[in-house]
Parts: sequence; structure tokens; C-alpha cells
Amino acid sequence: MGDMADELQEAMECRDAKKRLLQTIRELGKNESTQEDMHRRLAAVKSAQVGTRVKCPTCKKRFTKKTYQHTFCSRKGRNNCKDRFHNIQPHRIERSRAYA
Ligand SMILES: [Zn+2]
Repeated sequence: MGDMADELQEAMECRDAKKRLLQTIRELGKNESTQEDMHRRLAAVKSAQVGTRVKCPTCKKRFTKKTYQHTFCSRKGRNNCKDRFHNIQPHRIERSRAYA
């Protein structure tokens, strides 16, 4: 009886570990597609005409493109959209994958 409880416990822990691993993989995948989406959105903003409504590549907020270089809704202050965009770089994802 005791052995069976141990086995059950082990099986549960194994299942939990598997669940956690799947979760990590899902999150990494999400990061990757987000990064890809961000670059796609940045390309869209870059090719948009000045004076048109565009979507911020980082936060998806809509804003009017004021100048040719205006590609993010904010580029001032801490954690602004321009910095956040550049902080999400492939090597960061690679590193988090190595620790996963
Ligand atoms: Zn933004």
C-alpha cells in the first residue's frame, strides 16, 4: 500500500514537471512570436505615411505618425516603447532558453 502511494506521488510530480516544462516552452514560443509581430508592426509603421494613424510596435496603441522617424508612441522616460522594443532582443530569449 505504501509503495503504491509513493508511486502515485512520483507520477504526480512527474506530471507536474511535464506541465511546467510545457508552460515554459509555451511562454518562450509566445515571446518569439511577439518579437516577430513587433518587427512586423515596426515595418508597417515605417512604411506608413506621415500624418496617418499607426499602431505602436511595442504596445499596439494607436497614434498619429508625426515625422518620418516617428515609429513608437513614446520614446521618453523609463520603460518607454522604443526602449522596450530594443530590450526584447533574440539573445535574451536564447539565454532564458538555456536556463529553462
Ligand atoms: Zn507604445
